Amino acid sequence: MYEKDRAWVELDRSNLVHNINVIRSILPEGCTLMPCVKANAFGHGAELISRILMEIGIRDYCVACLTEAIELRAAGIEGQILILGYTAPEDFPALIKYDLTQTVVDCGYGRLLNDFGKPVHVHVAIDTGMHRIGERCEHIDEIASLWTLPNLLIDGVYTHLCTSDDTDEDSIKFVHQQKDAFDKVICELSSRGISGFKAHIQASSGLANYPDFRYDYARTGALVYGNEGTPADKVPGRLGLKKVLSLKARISTVRDLLPGDTVSYGRTFTADHAMKCASLGIGYADGLPKLLSNCWHVLVNGVSCPMIGTMCMDSVMIDVSSVPEVKQGDIAVIIGKSGDQEIKACDLAWKTGVNTNAVLSCLSPRVARIVV
Ligand SMILES: *Cc1c(COP(=O)(O)O)cnc(C)c1O
Repeated sequence: MYEKDRAWVELDRSNLVHNINVIRSILPEGCTLMPCVKANAFGHGAELISRILMEIGIRDYCVACLTEAIELRAAGIEGQILILGYTAPEDFPALIKYDLTQTVVDCGYGRLLNDFGKPVHVHVAIDTGMHRIGERCEHIDEIASLWTLPNLLIDGVYTHLCTSDDTDEDSIKFVHQQKDAFDKVICELSSRGISGFKAHIQASSGLANYPDFRYDYARTGALVYGNEGTPADKVPGRLGLKKVLSLKARISTVRDLLPGDTVSYGRTFTADHAMKCASLGIGYADGLPKLLSNCWHVLVNGVSCPMIGTMCMDSVMIDVSSVPEVKQGDIAVIIGKSGDQEIKACDLAWKTGVNTNAVLSCLSPRVARIVV
């Protein structure tokens, strides 16, 4: 209702659909796209994104944690929802209640899940070198023993590549080492008569750089949202994906500054000539990095406007001197296009020394999400 009063995210539905079509077109035969909608769909808004994905036939999703999974169910999302992280034993009842699929983060955890006493859908994580989660790939007897546990409904086995976004020789070698270790686990299981589960290994950069790897799912995040091919994002930009997200904010006031006037906390900006200053209804509590203070810009009516003064929790001031007829209520573009200008999330990310995912996933829930 009150979506456009201060700051909001606009989601481009047709760009999202475009990206899904492109990703589907490069999937190896038999591989199903399992979009990763963790962290509020990388800041885009998990409910809205997942609903669109469901409308276009997506039946498998992955998230980081139980809370995110339950949010999807509450939004009416059907199909498989895989939790990629740990769920505490006291929360195991929720896995059943919401029909979720839990990652077995190591074999001890698998036994805990089994001891809970109710059949639960799981994917087994295998650690092939990232050393974050998963049972070590060498522990094949222990891994195989999971199939003797009556309450584990093992639908999948997966691992995660940690250098698939780098193209130096060492990184490529490590990807193949991880893949070989994973394939060996599958092979050993098969030689013990264990099969009938899905196997998956790829996320975005793995899919983009190693499209010939043939597995059953691609757990794709960044590519779904069009985050590729920039200095901030090492995923190669060969696919022609489109940005799904724009970030906009309303101008709440416009005022004249006299020479010598200072702006905001700590008086870090001083006007050296007469100028026009506008306040925007967006600040660091909305997820805008505070270290952009005094060193970044936004677009108003296609004109670039420098940020001036220290960014506040709920607002930031900009120099609108060169925007003709600027007025209260006008819309500033923080990420996206305005006139023939564009500010990309990846450039903003690069400026703050992180990747696009890190900037977008920090956009706060206070910022409304709208599909356009
Ligand atoms: C976050 C994550 C993904 C998605 O990563 P992208 O590189 O954005 O595609 C896939 N798998 C796991 C295990 C993850 O943690």
